[in-house]
Amino acid sequence: MWVETLCQWFKENQRDLPWRRDRIPYHIWLSEIMLQQTQVATAIDYYHRFIGVFPTVEALAKATEDDVLRLWQGLGYYTRARNLKRCADVVWQQYDGIFPNQYQDLLKLPGIGPYTAGAIASIAFNRRVPAVDGNVLRVFSRLDARSDDIANPKTAKQFHAALLPLIPEEPGVFNQALMELGATVCTPQNPKCNQCPVSKYCKAHAEGMEMQYPVKTKKTKQKQMPIGMGIIYHKGKLLCFKQVEGRLLHGLWSLPFAADLVDERMLRNQLAEDFQLDLTEGRFVGQVRHVFTHLIWDVHIFVFEARNAHAIDFPEVRWCSSDELETLALPTVIKKVLSKGIKL
Ligand code: SF4
Repeated sequence: MWVETLCQWFKENQRDLPWRRDRIPYHIWLSEIMLQQTQVATAIDYYHRFIGVFPTVEALAKATEDDVLRLWQGLGYYTRARNLKRCADVVWQQYDGIFPNQYQDLLKLPGIGPYTAGAIASIAFNRRVPAVDGNVLRVFSRLDARSDDIANPKTAKQFHAALLPLIPEEPGVFNQALMELGATVCTPQNPKCNQCPVSKYCKAHAEGMEMQYPVKTKKTKQKQMPIGMGIIYHKGKLLCFKQVEGRLLHGLWSLPFAADLVDERMLRNQLAEDFQLDLTEGRFVGQVRHVFTHLIWDVHIFVFEARNAHAIDFPEVRWCSSDELETLALPTVIKKVLSKGIKL
C-alpha cells in the first residue's frame, strides 16, 4: 500500500532541515508559518535568526510587534509576522507558554488554519489529522487522479476527509512524507516519476497523465496600480511614517505615497496636505515595480525638499537619517526604492 511505502521512503530520504531535528511545537509552528509563501532555503535562514533572538514562546510574547516585524523584513506577507506575535501572546497568556496539543484548540489560535493546525498536531503531538497544503493537494490529486479544482477551498476539505482514514501509526511522518514528495519529486513541472517511491500506485502516472493533475482554475489577474512616492528630506533627514491599521503594510515604516498620483505637481500637493508640509518642486528620480499577492505597484519616485519640519501627529511620523532608517521595520518595496541609490 502506498502509505507505508511513502513513509519508509521519507524516513530514508528526508532532507535534513533544522526544524526536523526535534519535535518542539514552538519550532514546528515557527517553521510552518515561515514556509507559507517562502522557499525552504530562505526560511532556514530566518528560522535560525528567529530562534536565536526569540528562543521560546515567552521571548516572542515579550517582544514588541516592531521587534518581530524588523526580524521578518524581507520575508513579505507581513500578516504572518503580526499573527506570529499575536499567537505567541495567546499561547503565553492563556496556555502558560505551552502549545495546546489538540487540533481543534490549535485552530483557534491567531494565524493558524487547518493546514498549520494539522502539521503541528501531527508532527509535535502525533495526532491523527491530515495537513493539506499545496504540495499535498498536488500529490494526492495525481496519486488518486482526482479532478477537483484545487483553487476551490472546498477541495482541501475534501482531501482532508479522504486522507483521514489513511493516516498510519505515525501521522507526522505521513504528513511530512506527502509534503516532501511534493517538494522534491512530485513537483509542479516535470514530476520525477521514475524516481518516485509510489509510482506503481499512482493513477495519474498509470494513465500517463501526470501533467493533467492537479486541476486548477486560473487566478484573476493582479491589479496594477501607479503609485507616486516621495522621498521628502529636510536638513539631510528623510520623512517616514508608520502605516496605520487596516492598510496594506500596516505596522511597517513607509515613505509617503499616494495611489494613482504620478504627476509631480499633483503628488506634491497631496503629500504637502497629507503631512502638512511646505514642499519645493519635486524631481523624478526613477521607478520600481513591486508585486504583492493581488496587486502590482508601479512606484514613481520623486525627491522633494521640505521647507518646514512640521509634520502631523497621526500617523506616527519620523525624520530619520539613513542609519536610523535601517533600524526600522521596512517593507521590501521601500527597501527597493531606497536601494535605487538616490542622490538627495
Ligand atoms: Fe507524482 Fe509521478 Fe509519483 Fe505520481 S508517479 S506521485 S505523478 S511523481
